[in-house]
Formats: sequence, structure tokens, C-alpha cells
Amino acid sequence: MAVPMSFLTEELDAMKQAGLYGTIRTIESPQGAWVTIEGRRYLNLCSNNYLGLCNDPRLIAKVKEYVDTYGVGPGAVRTIAGTMSPHIELERKLAAFKGAEAAIVVQSGFCANLAVIPTLAPSAEDVIFSDALNHASIIDACRLSKAKVVRYAHSDLADLERKLDENRDVKGRSLLVTDGVFSMDGDVARLPEIVDLCERRGVLVVVDDAHGEGVLGRGGRGIVDHFGLHGRVDVEVGTLSKAFGVMGGVAAGSAELVDYLRQKARPNLFSSALTVPDVAANLAAVEILQESEDLVKKLWHNGDFLKRELKALGFDTASSETPITPVIIGEAADAKAFSAKLFEAGVFATAIVYPTVPKGTARIRAMVSAAHSEDDLRFAVERFAAVGREMGLIP
Ligand SMILES: *Cc1c(COP(=O)(O)O)cnc(C)c1O
Repeated sequence: MAVPMSFLTEELDAMKQAGLYGTIRTIESPQGAWVTIEGRRYLNLCSNNYLGLCNDPRLIAKVKEYVDTYGVGPGAVRTIAGTMSPHIELERKLAAFKGAEAAIVVQSGFCANLAVIPTLAPSAEDVIFSDALNHASIIDACRLSKAKVVRYAHSDLADLERKLDENRDVKGRSLLVTDGVFSMDGDVARLPEIVDLCERRGVLVVVDDAHGEGVLGRGGRGIVDHFGLHGRVDVEVGTLSKAFGVMGGVAAGSAELVDYLRQKARPNLFSSALTVPDVAANLAAVEILQESEDLVKKLWHNGDFLKRELKALGFDTASSETPITPVIIGEAADAKAFSAKLFEAGVFATAIVYPTVPKGTARIRAMVSAAHSEDDLRFAVERFAAVGREMGLIP
């Protein structure tokens, strides 16, 4: 008789054989420009801590203040235990920051997609248009809906237009969803054209701005601000775990949209709210962004510097339009070897391989932060140069 759980061993072994088993490093310090792993300091090029807020003293001070006043836990889901005033304060601040009428905060960016997509397009008569490179949380959110999902080729407006026209006579609602910034290549969605195509056909537009929040737009106000599309994008989904340096997800739009999500979105109805420390830290993060553009400017300066230096060395940094800096290596095994050699040399930069990116485009994705100094980035460039030459990838 088969041992019921033997599939675990078999599948884990198969992953190890195929080189697809991931090792997760333990970080013994706060997330920052440098991190401690097994007692040694490494330059950190892995995190989405774009603005260096993960360990900012202003966030920590706000957490202490709020925990002293409100405690830690939210008690239960908001619709049952009541919603705590810090959550309302955060939602108002986020809406004002983004220039939206209202916002709802949920537990994570992943949950924000689960809150928005199946709630707005639940039925088999609905249709959802989805970019082929959308984030896994969008794909899973689409699976939770009974709607027909129509995938269009990545950022391909001709393919999108054709598919919008082929699906013109749907009985239910039509909704388009796209990442704002595509995380593996760092390219930006062609949102003005997408909005034009959708507006003419009465298709709702949802943009998931996880990598654009705190990065794109004036002072990090996001992709809608970047393109000046205020009032023309129906839902702006975002995360508070990247540039904001904390945890949480947000959906912003009209007051009525947010009212609807509060009543109907399952992550709001059936999962408890963020903890008080999360909310307090996020409040401090929004306040910092509202006060000054300095961190956002530093982030872009650092991203431009690293891209320019790596390109000058002969590396392929693909089509990134944001601080995300992919360094294309090619084969998965080579990218893993590259990452391992960087690690030996004191740089923490994980290899990203199939199925996260297409075969033959395995890469190191260097994530810069406003927390990096120019010396830190020079250190990275030197190490990339040495490993690249050793592996024969650059002259
Ligand atoms: C990171 C990311 C998420 C998930 O955000 P969390 O807050 O970490 O759950 C969702 N969507 C996109 C596009 C992302 O890049």
C-alpha cells in the first residue's frame, strides 16, 4: 500500500533534481541596505524595501505610541468586532495621498486582489481581461471568480483591442486588470492607452500598482498620478509591503466603490484587520511620503546609477523603466551560479528562474533602495564585474 504522504518526498526530490528547489535565507538583522546572514554582513539587493522604510526610526516610534494607546490585535473581523480608529485614519490618509475619494485597507496586496477582482466580476456572465504577465495574486483572484478570463499578450494593445472586441456582447460586467509595474522586467503598463480602449467600451479598469506605490508619480503617489489619470481608473490596488516598508494591501477609488468592497469583499468579511503596529507604521510611512519627495528621488537616482554602470560593463539590463534592475544571465544554472558567487563576494541577490520568468531569460534581479549609498552601489558594481568576467558573460 502506498504511504499517503509519500508524494511530498517524491515531489521535493524532483524539484531538487531539476534545480527548482529554493533555499530561503534567514536574515538576522532588520531589512536594510545591508543584512546579516549567518553572522556575516551582505549588501542587500533582494528586498522591495524601495525607500528603506522597513527599519525607519519614525515608523518604529509611531508603532510604540500606537501600541501603548491601542494594544496590538484587532480582535476579529471589522464587520463584527468594529473597526478601530487607526485603520480609518490610515484609509483617509491613503486616499488623500493618492487623490482618490476613498480607500479600504486589507491584510496584504495579495488579499487586496482577492478583495477586488472576484467581488467586482463574480459571475459566469462576466469577463475579465488579464495581461499575460500579471502577478500570481491577480491570477488566483481571477480563479476565485466564475468569470471568463481572457488573457492578452503582455502590454500588446492590438491583441487587447481584438480581444475586447471579440467579447463585446457579454451579458455581465467587463473588467480589465493589469499590473502597473511588471516586477520581473520593471516595465510600466501602457495605462493611458488601456484606459482609452476600456472607457470607449464600458470596461472597468483595475490596476495593481504594487511596485509603483511609493515609486512612480509625484512623491511616489503611484501609476495613476504618473500618467495623470485621476478619476479614469476605477480601482487602484496597492501594497504597503514594498515601498511603504510594512505590510497591508489597499484598494482606492470612488467612495461608493469602497463602500461596496466593505460590504462584499471576502477578505474584509472573513479575515481580521491588520494589527495596530502594522497600521501605525503605515501611517508614519504615508506621512513621510507626504512631507517630502527626497526618498523617492534618491531611489530613482540609485536605480539610474546601477543600471548605467551595469550596462557600461556590458550586462543586459533588459527593458526596465523603473528602479528594478534585471541582469539577464540566460540559463537557470548559470543564473544560480552567478548568484552563489555574488553571495561569496558579499552581495545578496537571488537568481530568478523559470517558471517565474521565461526559459532562457534567467536573471539576477537587483533591487535598489533609497537606503543604499553610492559606495554600496559601487561595491555591487565591482562584484558584478568580477563575477561577470569570471563567468565569461562580459568582456
Ligand atoms: C508583491 C505584489 C503583490 C503582493 O503584495 P503583498 O502585500 O506582499 O501581499 C500583489 N501584486 C503585485 C503586482 C505584486 O508585485
